[in-house]
Amino acid sequence: MSNEIRNIVVVGGGIIGCSTAYYLTRHPAFLPSRVSITLIEASAHGAAQGASGKAGGLVAKWAYPKEIVNVSFAEHVKLANEHNGKDRWGWRYVNTGSWEGRGELSSGLSGPRREKSLEKTLGLEDGRKGNSSSRKLKGLPDDLLWVKESLTQSYSPMAPDGATAQVHPYLFTTSMLALAREKGVIFKSGTVTSIVESSGKVTGIEYVESGQSASQTLPATDVIVCAGAWSPKLLPGLPIEGTRAHSIVIRMSPTATIAPYVLFTEITGTGNGVVTPEIYARPDGTVYACGPGDDSPLPDNVDDVAVDGTACENLLKNVSSISDELRDGTVDVRQACFLPVSSIGGGPIIGEAQSIAKGLFVATGHTCWGISNAPGTAKAIAELVLEGQIRCANLKKLHPSKFF
Ligand SMILES: Cc1cc2nc3c(=O)[nH]c(=O)nc-3n(C[C@H](O)[C@H](O)[C@H](O)COP(=O)(O)OP(=O)(O)OC[C@H]3O[C@@H](n4cnc5c(N)ncnc54)[C@H](O)[C@@H]3O)c2cc1C
Repeated sequence: MSNEIRNIVVVGGGIIGCSTAYYLTRHPAFLPSRVSITLIEASAHGAAQGASGKAGGLVAKWAYPKEIVNVSFAEHVKLANEHNGKDRWGWRYVNTGSWEGRGELSSGLSGPRREKSLEKTLGLEDGRKGNSSSRKLKGLPDDLLWVKESLTQSYSPMAPDGATAQVHPYLFTTSMLALAREKGVIFKSGTVTSIVESSGKVTGIEYVESGQSASQTLPATDVIVCAGAWSPKLLPGLPIEGTRAHSIVIRMSPTATIAPYVLFTEITGTGNGVVTPEIYARPDGTVYACGPGDDSPLPDNVDDVAVDGTACENLLKNVSSISDELRDGTVDVRQACFLPVSSIGGGPIIGEAQSIAKGLFVATGHTCWGISNAPGTAKAIAELVLEGQIRCANLKKLHPSKFF
């Protein structure tokens, strides 16, 4: 890197922006005396208020695109080792499987609950544990006791041991930001309204601070757009759209035993056709579940994402229909967020948009794998910004030049 002073602005405090800020500060060319980094997030409530705080948190070797996954999985492992990810953001290896079966509707979702002290025994007797030969026939692992064996048609593992792990996405994202701030990154709460350039080179951004109405300018030599589903608002050529998805977090009874599995389900018999919620056991005594996307329009600000109570209730009904443990838990969180999806397939888009302006970088459109792919993306962008080239992977296929 030359001796020039760099003012880097990261737009967006989701997992991509916060991880990018972190990797910039860990790059050998980062010298606080010469490089200043500001991260601006539009939410008035801090980082990770969108998809990055409300995702499942699966980190998978079988994610895509391979170019980033190959870097990202190893980086997740490294980050967890270096910063005690186990305690800090719930890092652990997890089993992943596809589960098919029938749901069992209980009239008692809101009705009287069964005695908790009897549950385990009852569950085992009513076929949750079943006998080992019928479990084997269905493919159910011995420790996956929190879905009913009697309702299971089939289970198949999706990946070998060690190929899937998980993080708590909100804790991971906010930890990345906290670790970046420890090295000097400045966090601002505000909405970037435009990127300013002169003679084909980025010179700054205009933004409105949260709670204010006046626009301000912040000088910048480099701007990295990590604005998730909102990215096309700043760069209209980007083929990215937002799809709203609901999720719930269920707190398990302290007596429930929830082995570490992420299940991709196909459930019939709930009265809603075939439903396919994803269910993630977490190490903090909760289980996260998310449902399908819908067509709700993207609001201007992440804080204005509407939550449809019926969508959350349906999700609860669907996942409770295959598990007494889930039915007997308490719903801690009902939420919705916008997944950034590519309108032309593929994604993400990573690189410098030099045809718009030198110093303008894009890291967005991570579809359903942004949690998994954040460290690889961030490492690549940090290299590109501070060294002028991506060394950790060949990301030519993801370059934004196709769109501008
Ligand atoms: C239900 C669900 C489950 C998922 N599960 C997984 C999973 O298990 N594993 C996985 O790998 N991925 C998962 N994903 C995908 C993952 O959540 C996303 O790919 C990832 O969070 C995208 O991160 P991001 O930082 O690009 O976007 P976001 O998290 O949306 O962050 C973008 C941020 O930019 C801010 N912003 C936007 N415009 C501006 C502006 N003009 N100025 C300032 N700030 C701005 C927004 O407020 C927002 O906070 C899931 C997604 C959903 C919806």
